[in-house]
Amino acid sequence: MKKATIIGAGLTGLTTAYYLKKAGWKVTILEKDTRTGGAIHTHREDGFVFESGPNTGMISHPEVAELFEELGNQVEVEPANEEAKRRLIWKEGRWHDLPSCMKAGIKTPLFSWRDKLRLLTEPFRKPGKNPDETLAEMVKRRMGKSFLDYAVDPFILGIYAGDPSQLVTRYALPKLYNLEQNYGSFIKGTFKKHSELIREKKNDPELYNYHKKANKKMFSMAGGLDNLVNALTGKFEEEEILLGCDNLTICPANNIFTAKFEHRGETKLMESDALITTTGAHEVPNILPFLRDDEKQKITNLIYAKVVQVAIGYKEWRGIPLKAFGGLVPSREHRDVLGVLFLSAFLKNRAPKGGALLSVFLGGVRNPEMVNLTDEEIEKLVFPELQKMMMVTDRKPELLRIFRHTHAIPQYGVSTGERIKAVEDIQNHFPGLLLGGNLRDGIGMADRIKQGVTMAKELDEIFEKKATSQNSEIQQD
Ligand SMILES: Cc1cc2nc3c(=O)[nH]c(=O)nc-3n(C[C@H](O)[C@H](O)[C@H](O)COP(=O)(O)OP(=O)(O)OC[C@H]3O[C@@H](n4cnc5c(N)ncnc54)[C@H](O)[C@@H]3O)c2cc1C
Repeated sequence: MKKATIIGAGLTGLTTAYYLKKAGWKVTILEKDTRTGGAIHTHREDGFVFESGPNTGMISHPEVAELFEELGNQVEVEPANEEAKRRLIWKEGRWHDLPSCMKAGIKTPLFSWRDKLRLLTEPFRKPGKNPDETLAEMVKRRMGKSFLDYAVDPFILGIYAGDPSQLVTRYALPKLYNLEQNYGSFIKGTFKKHSELIREKKNDPELYNYHKKANKKMFSMAGGLDNLVNALTGKFEEEEILLGCDNLTICPANNIFTAKFEHRGETKLMESDALITTTGAHEVPNILPFLRDDEKQKITNLIYAKVVQVAIGYKEWRGIPLKAFGGLVPSREHRDVLGVLFLSAFLKNRAPKGGALLSVFLGGVRNPEMVNLTDEEIEKLVFPELQKMMMVTDRKPELLRIFRHTHAIPQYGVSTGERIKAVEDIQNHFPGLLLGGNLRDGIGMADRIKQGVTMAKELDEIFEKKATSQNSEIQQD
């Protein structure tokens, strides 16, 4: 039986291991922490259900829908309600709706008249030639500065806690990059993609139905995202997930990977035919000490945004009406918070009846030092913002929990190309070794699931080929 060791029991590691096990592999997951889930972590306190990591994901790849189908009634996928379609942007002292239709787009004070008119000529503007163009450069070139400041910048704060002038479009938002490169314009591309889908429906209904599984709907899990983690964890026997593995290192020799680690006070050695890492980039040199220094450097060049997430719960809400997904604060507004999610407005049972659960984000690549603030200093920053933006009274919330993430969201900037190349070279040099996790292939939960499915398939194919060529060699002998 083929044996695979998977490092990390976050969403990527669990998904990869699940599909490998399904394909007949003997799997062992080695996890440093004493729990599974990695960044996904649900907390339950005093009638509030809140997350310290991701809050919602999007069904943006068919693989996500298929995983949920696989898990069946072991998970209850909770779609966000209609309120979540409304997004607010802070400008000059108040919230404005992010326009969701042409009419609203014309009326909104978020964008300048010049840029609104300029948008009419977007389909006629030439595609960019620099493959490493940043998102800020691209948006300014195609849409104008006010769209960058009041649509793309807050959008990037919400997803990456990042800065559009540091993210390279083809890595950070590949779909947007491809729209321009393949169709010449965002607007033309959106229409053409739609008509391609209609053609596909007629010519290849099976493929069409597969693509349609990626319905772009926002999801959480009833009762919290850790229910997804629990359902996946439940697919393994106790001995298949080893928690609390310390000082883990790998040594490759003769097509075998030997993991050495400490577990429950003992040093253990474990051999396998294949090895998959799913940790952040910064952990890779510790786990794979045999890599060359230049390879390690190319991988650890990846910058992670540092984020402070504050869960705030009121048993009785008296602030502004919470009828939206939340509000984002553009960098141009120079405020202390990046954004506020109105979680109890679009997910069920997150706060006691009549109350509210908010999640406030601070820090990001522009203010990384915020993770070093004390709880008291963070509270001092957050409350005046809540008073101003959410109209809450001086009253202290019933729930206040502060979470600091020093390696929250990877920023796919200019170093991405050489990192991906280094990963490819390493994988070619050590067949059976795959370097996954968020150092490549996307930052969201949906990307992690897709990568897990893809890596399991890739590994299975590598070993199928190996077995076939070994069989034919034996027959020739
Ligand atoms: C604050 C925050 C908010 C987010 N918000 C969203 C959101 O709203 N929507 C969304 O889609 N995504 C969001 N994300 C991203 C999402 O959480 C991640 O993409 C996803 O959970 C990462 O899964 P992973 O398995 O790749 O990595 P991780 O969850 O980081 O798992 C890696 C695992 O490897 C383990 N590990 C590390 N080093 C070692 C070692 N040396 N030995 C053994 N094990 C090791 C870790 O303990 C961890 O369990 C957010 C992330 C953060 C931090």
